[in-house]
Amino acid sequence: MDIQLLIDRLKEIVGDGHVLSSDMDLTLYSYDASLERAMPDVVVLPGSTEEVSRIMALAYEEKIPILGRGSGTNLTGGTVPIAGGIVVHFSRMNRILEIDIPNRTATVEPGVITLDFQTKVLKRGFVYQPDPASQRVSTLGGNIGENSGGPHCLKYGVTTNHVLGMEIVLNDGKVVWTGGKCPDHAGYDIKGLFVGSEGTLGLATKIMLRLERAPEAVKTMLAIYDTIQDGANTVSAIIAEGIVPATLEMMDNIVMRAVEETIKVGYPLDAAAVLIIELDGMPEGMDAQAERIMAICRKNNVREVKLAKDDAERAILWAGRKGAFGAVGQVRPSYVCCDGTVPRTRLPEVLSKVLEVGRKYNVPIGNVFHAGDGNLHPLIMFDDRDPEEKARVLKASSEILKLCADAGGTISGEHGVGLEKISETCFVFNDTDLEFERTIKHAFDPDDILNPGKLIPDHPCGR
Ligand SMILES: Cc1cc2nc3c(=O)[nH]c(=O)nc-3n(C[C@H](O)[C@H](O)[C@H](O)COP(=O)(O)OP(=O)(O)OC[C@H]3O[C@@H](n4cnc5c(N)ncnc54)[C@H](O)[C@@H]3O)c2cc1C
Repeated sequence: MDIQLLIDRLKEIVGDGHVLSSDMDLTLYSYDASLERAMPDVVVLPGSTEEVSRIMALAYEEKIPILGRGSGTNLTGGTVPIAGGIVVHFSRMNRILEIDIPNRTATVEPGVITLDFQTKVLKRGFVYQPDPASQRVSTLGGNIGENSGGPHCLKYGVTTNHVLGMEIVLNDGKVVWTGGKCPDHAGYDIKGLFVGSEGTLGLATKIMLRLERAPEAVKTMLAIYDTIQDGANTVSAIIAEGIVPATLEMMDNIVMRAVEETIKVGYPLDAAAVLIIELDGMPEGMDAQAERIMAICRKNNVREVKLAKDDAERAILWAGRKGAFGAVGQVRPSYVCCDGTVPRTRLPEVLSKVLEVGRKYNVPIGNVFHAGDGNLHPLIMFDDRDPEEKARVLKASSEILKLCADAGGTISGEHGVGLEKISETCFVFNDTDLEFERTIKHAFDPDDILNPGKLIPDHPCGR
């Protein structure tokens, strides 16, 4: 279809002011938080399900590639329009439609910012648990697209465990509902399939989420280690004792240094690593549990373990953790975050191998990650403008994901596959597995217009 005609048809659907097509606008939608870049043909900002449905029907009729976009913070190229086409930006669909306290559910549009929603429900004494570090910017639609995680997902599970239902616009514009307020449903678990599908099966236009009572008490500890291995051993030892804290986050020296240059947290700059351990729940028994955890830390050679003395100290520890990705810009201008997962008992061994990879390719690697889940985030720091260094970084990143797969883990903990890890899917799937995934994709999208080129490689893995 002629681009001008497409723009005119989209304007008829959403109004003149909600279609973007200048070079400047398209450039702004050509990237996300990954290293990938590609220009869309047009960007459209719908205001309702009905408009999304009409846009999808048009794309279907004309076989035009189409992808959904929240805030574009994904780290894997999920919103980079490699086949051109239409980007559907959900920023106008940002209303919280219902907070139903008796049923402990909330229904939102996909463009709601994660932290705005969490702040709103907290005022009513409730929490929505998934807490990606990007929550100030990310949208709930994007969180669904990637099945996002966060520090609290050790105890409470990732996004999919908190989605009860969804309104989905299918490839041809039909609108369907899956799930709802009841805990169980007849038929296929479509919402389970949809969460984490990276916009390749349809677009979510309403999302029903689970709310939980806010914990009455929280205790946060900072454990300081002279070796990363001691910190990693502590993680397995805590869980082996039958304790599941709300969070078990680790940060190594290189990342602590970068954080201290941006936010003065007071991390010990001569230490190899710290663990941020948080307990939440009822106040009864929490002191005893904190004592048990501190004893486990001591058994694993902790240099020092201390409790945050008040909310302000707790907030600053978390500000450091949540600002860590941004802070590594102090070390080098760009980074690749390798989001791989391993069984937590393999953490000490895999972390040493990650540092070896850094030495082999001569690139600095910092670690800040969800240690309790075994979800590593080695941050390889470099300068994107140096093609030779970038090539080394991409090799190092792939090798780290292979290490994770070989240790019985996988190539994504929470950031998805997108474009950047599409070749690495072969580390964890064989050709039969991938053919089965393609069959599912084609049942929803036989013309391959929904976020094409993402998630599933179009080539065989040869195994
Ligand atoms: C500094 C930083 C820290 C981060 N920390 C974390 C973290 O702790 N945990 C974590 O999990 N991730 C983290 N991320 C990654 C990222 O923030 C998450 O993946 C987030 O969920 C993306 O949200 P978004 O609104 O930016 O989505 P986008 O990047 O816009 O989209 C993500 C995917 O969802 C699809 N999509 C968007 N809207 C819809 C919709 N309505 N229907 C169907 N598909 C849709 C898109 O097509 C794309 O494939 C971090 C990123 C950065 C830059």
